[in-house]
Amino acid sequence: MEKEKPAVCGGKPVRDTKLFYGHQYIDEADIQAVVDVLKSDYLTCGPKIGELEKKLCEVTGAKYAVVCSNGTAALHMACMAAGIGPGDEVVTTPVTFAASANCALYCGGRPVFADIRKDTYNIDPASVAERVSEKTKAVVAVDFTGQSVQLDELLSLCREKGLVLIEDGAHVIGTKYKGKPNGSIADMTTFSFHPVKTVTGGEGGAVLTDSEEYYQKLLLYRSHGITRNEDLMEYEPEGGWYYEQIDLGYNYRMTDMQAALIISQLDKLPLFSRRRKEIVERYNEAFSRLPQIAVQKEIPESDTTRHLYILRLVPEKLRIGRKEFFDALAAENICCNVHYIPTYYFPYYQKLGYQKGICPKAEKLYEEIISLPLYYAMTDQDVEDVVRAVTRIAKYYEA
Ligand SMILES: *Cc1c(COP(=O)(O)O)cnc(C)c1O
Repeated sequence: MEKEKPAVCGGKPVRDTKLFYGHQYIDEADIQAVVDVLKSDYLTCGPKIGELEKKLCEVTGAKYAVVCSNGTAALHMACMAAGIGPGDEVVTTPVTFAASANCALYCGGRPVFADIRKDTYNIDPASVAERVSEKTKAVVAVDFTGQSVQLDELLSLCREKGLVLIEDGAHVIGTKYKGKPNGSIADMTTFSFHPVKTVTGGEGGAVLTDSEEYYQKLLLYRSHGITRNEDLMEYEPEGGWYYEQIDLGYNYRMTDMQAALIISQLDKLPLFSRRRKEIVERYNEAFSRLPQIAVQKEIPESDTTRHLYILRLVPEKLRIGRKEFFDALAAENICCNVHYIPTYYFPYYQKLGYQKGICPKAEKLYEEIISLPLYYAMTDQDVEDVVRAVTRIAKYYEA
């Protein structure tokens, strides 16, 4: 049988318009929610902040939520609350956005990279255990693609060694671990509301926790270390205007416009979740038939709302590499991305003394992956176009 020619070889592209790997979905209710805030008295520090925090607690089952300007600020505040300081080590994965490690550096700590599991691509608790030292204070575990990390294993390791477990849940909103929403399990969980994430506020972040102690600290760090809570004050209040700065914090506040948008988006989370699951199911079904593609393994404990779909190539079964496959998809008008370049590959980390080779499974993964389009507003036709493009390229270049 004649093989279908991919567009890079002169075939007709599977579609005429470009599809990107992620895209936000904004409806009239979202727009109205933001407009209502613009017409109200408070653009920041208003009622939408508390409303969103309450809603995040309802959605996740966490006791406390502190919303902030973005997911990176959330990670920074979580590391501060965990007490990370100069000389402390924080174990994390290299298969993530740079912020998961940078947050330790912000506090004067040192990120230590643990390797991933080669089947789920999430941080391997066994590798974490190996890399914990006398200096380790915390673990930042990333729910890569939205699949939950192995929280039971990580929590029991952290309890045994006296470490704080911070879950970087930028991908995880909507996912459940053993039936409980992620966000209610680790010591602290951070979310991001960047437009490529499942729920967006333009920018935005949150830290979720059950700990009153962390909660009080997070509130301080979000706004300059300033408090109006008399119980926390050093001196007698001098009058109604009085406040004190009792710690060093930042301006990591979220605006009410962002909070209103996120509240409105959260109403659609069940819809977003369902559609993302449908698309992932269709991709998995199609790609598990192709020997040229390896499908990401799902642990049974995770009921996953997938943020990213990772196409993993099987190099032995293909005559082309990842770059050629990526370019061939672009020629079909399927515009992908790669998540992630291992963090310690970056020049900044190399200058800090990190060597290539420390996480071989993460490095191998990086060579073989492409992030396919996955977002709520994709039509069935969009999804079929992606399936058709991947299939024709995989078959055309089969080894
Ligand atoms: C997006 C992301 C962040 C950072 O979130 P921002 O809101 O962009 O600051 C951190 N970690 C991971 C894994 C992310 O995907």
